[in-house]
Amino acid sequence: MNTTSQEKNAPIILVVDDDRTTRMMLRRAMESEGYRVAEANNGIQCLDSYSHLMPSMVLLDAKMPVMDGFECCSKLQTLPGGSSTPVLMITGLEDEESVERAFSAGSRDYITKPIHWAVLRYRVRRLLQEQEAETEILKALRRERELNDLRSRIVTMVSHEYRTPLTTILSSAELLEHYGERWTAEKRHQHLKRIQSAAKHMTHLVSDVVSISQFEAGELQFQPAAVDLKALCLQLVADLAEKAGGMGAGGQQSRIKVQFPEALAAVVLDGNLLRQILGNVLENAVKYSGSDSEVSLDVRCQDLPQISNEEGMDLGGAGGLAEHKLVMFRVEDRGIGIAPQELLEIFNPFYRGHNIGNIPGTGLGLAIAKKCAELHGGKIAVASTVGVGTAVTITLPVKTAS
Ligand code: ADP
Repeated sequence: MNTTSQEKNAPIILVVDDDRTTRMMLRRAMESEGYRVAEANNGIQCLDSYSHLMPSMVLLDAKMPVMDGFECCSKLQTLPGGSSTPVLMITGLEDEESVERAFSAGSRDYITKPIHWAVLRYRVRRLLQEQEAETEILKALRRERELNDLRSRIVTMVSHEYRTPLTTILSSAELLEHYGERWTAEKRHQHLKRIQSAAKHMTHLVSDVVSISQFEAGELQFQPAAVDLKALCLQLVADLAEKAGGMGAGGQQSRIKVQFPEALAAVVLDGNLLRQILGNVLENAVKYSGSDSEVSLDVRCQDLPQISNEEGMDLGGAGGLAEHKLVMFRVEDRGIGIAPQELLEIFNPFYRGHNIGNIPGTGLGLAIAKKCAELHGGKIAVASTVGVGTAVTITLPVKTAS
């Protein structure tokens, strides 16, 4: 059995007939329409070929030795994908009983012998169009189901995760209302801080949820522009330090130690997406390690030709040009680590590791970071040992800004 070398993505038609001449004529008729053709000379061969060829359609003779077309058609319906592959049965002229048997065996249409070639071509075209429309509808339905599933998980997560900060805000506000005047300035300040940090946490939740919904709906776009990497990273670190408790902005040292290459030219990438990637990864490194342990961010930049293809990067045909670089961010911590069997799952939305105890989170950060890296044509990898620490490496292909 061999398929012809028509256009690579052309539909494959599996022609099944015990008569060699008919097969040849069917092949010619189908090839003249631009389809690829595979042949089988009985029902058993047809079933064998179906599974590995996955044809778009089967042209099936009704009367054949070994296994006839009716039995073959019924069996096709039970194979994976079989019931959605149209079968056009070729029956004898005036043979009404065969026509009925063909439909009840699962055939979508039939044509009689001697074959009217124009009619055959028309029917094949129509069946393939119907098939394509059906596939598109099924794809849209599946997508809709996935989005619905995501929405209901978001509702569950938000209603659960909102409770704690809301309770904090309400209780601190009530206490301030009733006792504020009697409290010291320091105590009032403490409760105002609690309200602020709970409100910030809620804002963070909302922005994570908005980001993941936009990604899933395909609404977020890659918008590259010249970015000063050093300034972006330092700002992020300062923001995180401030968020973690008033460090950085007040001139205190952040727990995050940043290292840049000596000469770091401005590069073209999407600064907003990069902030989401690094923000989430750095926040995790801080959150999942002890408050006195150090977190490092190491930024490197290298020319593309030095990187082997094993990096698996989508370089968009950029390889070898001097202005194309790879920028790498490595975030390392000495925190709780991630179990080996969870290293892939942590990128799924809402997945949270089993060793996190009561450290708060939504399970969305890494899913967002991965999507942002992929929008750059880059990737994100995690290496970790439980109880020792975690290293997250983000690699993005970039252009140097002129
Ligand atoms: P979240 O931190 O809100 O749970 P993420 O998507 O950012 O969600 O991370 C998913 C999971 O990956 C976390 O719940 C945690 O188990 C694990 N994880 C991510 N980063 C680290 C890290 N630096 N150290 C230990 N575990 C981590």
